[in-house]
This record gives sequence, C-alpha cells and structure tokens, in this order.
Amino acid sequence: MSIIKHLKKARIIILIFTSFIIASIIIIPKIPEIPLTNLNNIPIAPAPCQLNQKLQLPNNIKQKTFDIPQKFASKILRRVKPRNNEKVIALTFDDGPWTKSTREILDILKLNNVQATFFWLGTSLQKNPEIAREVVQAEHAIGNHTWSHPTQPINPITAKQEIECTAQLIYTTTGVKTFLFRPAGGRLNNGLAAYAKTQKYAIFKWSVNSSDYSLSDPQLIVDNVIKGAKPGAIILLHDGMGDHTPTVKALPNIIKELKQQGYRFVTLPELLEMAK
Ligand SMILES: [Zn+2]
Repeated sequence: MSIIKHLKKARIIILIFTSFIIASIIIIPKIPEIPLTNLNNIPIAPAPCQLNQKLQLPNNIKQKTFDIPQKFASKILRRVKPRNNEKVIALTFDDGPWTKSTREILDILKLNNVQATFFWLGTSLQKNPEIAREVVQAEHAIGNHTWSHPTQPINPITAKQEIECTAQLIYTTTGVKTFLFRPAGGRLNNGLAAYAKTQKYAIFKWSVNSSDYSLSDPQLIVDNVIKGAKPGAIILLHDGMGDHTPTVKALPNIIKELKQQGYRFVTLPELLEMAK
C-alpha cells in the first residue's frame, strides 16, 4: 500500500472519530445532576431532651461502658470476620426495650446461655426503664439506635439530638455508655451516621436480615437466619416498636439450629475483639 493510501485511510478514521465526538456532544443530552439534599436546610426538630454535660447516676446504678477497639471507631460494619474463621455469630435486637417481647427474649436467651446485643430507641427506653435495667443486669451489650427512629434526611443538629439524648437516657437509666450505634432502618445517608462518625461510634448494619418485622411465620424467620449464617455474621432481629411474637417463637429454633452447626453466640463488642 502506498503512503498516500495510508494517509487517506488515517484521514477517514480521524473524520469518523471527530464527527462521532461532535455528534455525541450535540445529540446525547447531558445527564442532569441530582442535587444532594442540603441537610442544613432541613428545619431543626424540637429536642427530645436537654443536653447536660454533668449527668448524675442514681446511687444504686453502676457505670458500665461498651467500648470498641480504636480501629473500628467511625467504621461502618456489616459483618466482622473473626480470627481463624471461628464459628461465632452475633444476635442483635432493635427498637426496644419493649414490654412483653423483650422480657420473653431475655428468658429464652438466659435459658440457652446466650448473650446478645440490644439497640435501644430513646422513645422505647423512656417507656420501659425497668426492662432496660434487666437487659443490662443479664450482661447483654447495649447500642444506641436514635431517639425516634428517623429514616428521612434530618438537620445535623437534629441528628446530634437524636443520638445524644438517647445516649444520655441510656446512661441515666442504666449506667451504660456505649460506642455501638445502629442508624434507624440502617440508613447511612440521612445525617445520623455522619454524626455518629464524628463521635467515634462503630456503626453497625447487619449481614443477615431476618425480616422478622414483616413475617408472621416464625419458620420463615428461622430460615432467613440460617441461610445467612457465617462466622462473624450479624443477625438483625427486633424486640420493640410492635408485637414481635413471631420473633419470640423463632428464637429458640434459631439458637438450636445454630448451636447444632457449631456456632457460639457473642455480643458485638466481643465480636470486634475477635476480629482478624
Ligand atoms: Zn430500628
């Protein structure tokens, strides 16, 4: 092939290429950018408590802290792989403390010698302080799950109030300070997780959703948990904000089947200590 033919070919390629670029600029419409909600523009909700720097514990209550290893501060966690792939698993119960279901769950856990983690709401805790103290007495771990369970975007000041008022009430009711946090509905982008990060909480989602909030057949809840069981799995269950009879009915079988598979139950702080 002569040089002229080569040049002609190159010119055609360049021509096609540039016309394609020009056409794409003219024809292909630009994807409009979705404006991110500016959380600062959202009105501040009324504070559910007065934030107080110097909190006094009643005389009969001892202080207890659920701390986390520094490497997990401000981290979002779904599952925590344990060293040597040890068969440990963490049951977590959200939205309590509640009247009937929390007590029933406590009884089942005690009977089976199982420790779990409870993520509390300020609104639930306000109504059920006695049960809260029983949960702490039984050596289960406690996490903060916001005051009123907001899943929509909220103002950063509201986010602070949601978490700090809950932390304050947990402390004055039970003596517990906790660095475990779970955002309501597991939402990570509505301002709550952002505030929790600034306060060095470990932010827990879950690796297994039992869907117990929407299932009435206990066996389906058991199946969901067993299907997702893995070393270091974090199981999402509920004891508050509604009737959780199906969860209570499913729990003995969840524990039985997982024990048969060789699993040992740990709290979230224990799981973090076992991390690879
Ligand atoms: Zn919840």
